[in-house]
Amino acid sequence: MSIAESAVATATTDADVRVISHWVDGVEVVSSSGRMAPVFNPATGVVSAHVALADQVEIDAAIASAVRGFRVWSGWSIARRQGVLFSFRELLNARKRELAEIITAEHGKVVSDAMGEILRGQEVVELACGFPHLIKGAFSENASTGVDVYSVKQPLGVVGIISPFNFPAMVPMWFFPIAIAAGNAVVLKPSEKDPSAALWLAALWQEAGLPDGVFTVLQGDKTAVDGLLTSPDVASISFVGSTPIAQYIYETASKHGKRVQALGGAKNHMLVLPDADLDLVADQAVNAGYGAAGERCMAISVVLAVEPVADELITKITERIGKLKIGNGAGVDGVEPDMGPLITDVHRDKVASYVDIAEQDGATIVVDGRNFTVDGHEDGFFFGPTLIDHIPTTSRAYTEEIFGPVLSVVRVQSYDEGLALINSGQFGNGTAIFTNDGGAARRFQNEVQVGMIGINVPIPVPVAYHSFGGWKQSLFGDAKAYGIHGFDFYTREKAITSRWLDPATRNHSEHTGINL
Ligand code: NAD
Repeated sequence: MSIAESAVATATTDADVRVISHWVDGVEVVSSSGRMAPVFNPATGVVSAHVALADQVEIDAAIASAVRGFRVWSGWSIARRQGVLFSFRELLNARKRELAEIITAEHGKVVSDAMGEILRGQEVVELACGFPHLIKGAFSENASTGVDVYSVKQPLGVVGIISPFNFPAMVPMWFFPIAIAAGNAVVLKPSEKDPSAALWLAALWQEAGLPDGVFTVLQGDKTAVDGLLTSPDVASISFVGSTPIAQYIYETASKHGKRVQALGGAKNHMLVLPDADLDLVADQAVNAGYGAAGERCMAISVVLAVEPVADELITKITERIGKLKIGNGAGVDGVEPDMGPLITDVHRDKVASYVDIAEQDGATIVVDGRNFTVDGHEDGFFFGPTLIDHIPTTSRAYTEEIFGPVLSVVRVQSYDEGLALINSGQFGNGTAIFTNDGGAARRFQNEVQVGMIGINVPIPVPVAYHSFGGWKQSLFGDAKAYGIHGFDFYTREKAITSRWLDPATRNHSEHTGINL
């Protein structure tokens, strides 16, 4: 069975449950660690596979293969490397539906949403295809008499990527196309909750002509992560995940001398001014709050309604929630729901506990998704869209990231009150303002302490030729993902000062044939 067929097939008995393993030296190897974790189909609650959790022997073997891969790949010409990038882009474009179905089977999001994440990743592949222009150096002729100064950009070596469960294809693709284009070898440690997408991508790279060892997949948990963070053969770490782990990654990898970028969690607010188009706002709040079951780092989780609009907005959002279809992301007879399940039952219970906290703290639960079930999928990890009003801003359900389909409304009296709330939070990933006043929007973009801003756009994920990253606890390190930041992160600059005397000064004309 291919990687795609086996990821989508659902095991029927324990004996059928396959083990998803590492990709090293161009093959999926059999794990010998003896440690495994279950992988679920979140729509059915069934264990569809187990994923190998690497031990130190496997970590060392994966990194050693990448070191060998780097030696080969970094010696390839720019033109030859570019050929591989273009082939990868063509194969991905032709076969992305297969990858989308793998993502849905292990993550639960609807297939069209999985296609959307692949498209956003593909944008970065397309950017990386133009890498020769972006990694060329600079030259200053005659900086001093007879002296030229130039700089070249060289790859780092073996680079580690550690990714979260919520975008098993897009987040790795924020990094690896640029890392590989720049001449590095990648070791990807995907989330153990949806590990198959990484293997599919590894097989695709091989088909595109990438030499063995340049793209390695190391499955695992904290042991695999720590192995990458501490290995002297790993030059850099790109991490995306929750804030406490991002901080740990940043501190540990830095202590071990690595270049590191660690993107963390979020709590994204949508500020709605009284002049905004409330139908547009309600549509966007529902899409951005409940799409992918709220498991997006750029999801909107708080609507800051500048009075007097809150009551009308809540009515409009509630009407739209009533029309949402929730079910198996794979769809039935070609018809997809709007929203799938959460990733695990443990996560579903955590999301529910935040709604409990809000209620205990005095909030009004306008729409309650806690006891939501889907007919025929009673064991799936579903959680219904939830709308909370009057949430106290001291409640943990307001200050902490919930990462589920829960939208909270905070009523404020002015733009300034809303802005102050956004700026007082621990996170600074994304935010949006909804208004028809360009001057107000312009002031907001200047004053808000957040890395990515939407103006009448609820999920402002920058296109590939800009860069993605938040502020404050949403990003540890100086470099954002992709765009120019990506090329800077994955290359080291070397400056060369060179003096070649003119033949006239050394009477060497007989060797050079130059007339003095
Ligand atoms: P997570 O932090 O639990 O896991 C991320 C990665 O870290 C996984 O590969 C996991 O195996 C590893 N990991 C987990 N615990 C670890 C530990 N103790 N030591 C070392 N490694 C560990 O995150 P998640 O639940 O997979 O993903 C959801 C989180 O990711 C949310 O907080 C979300 O906001 C965040 N996220 C942020 C962005 C962004 O761009 N800022 C994008 C996507 C997701």
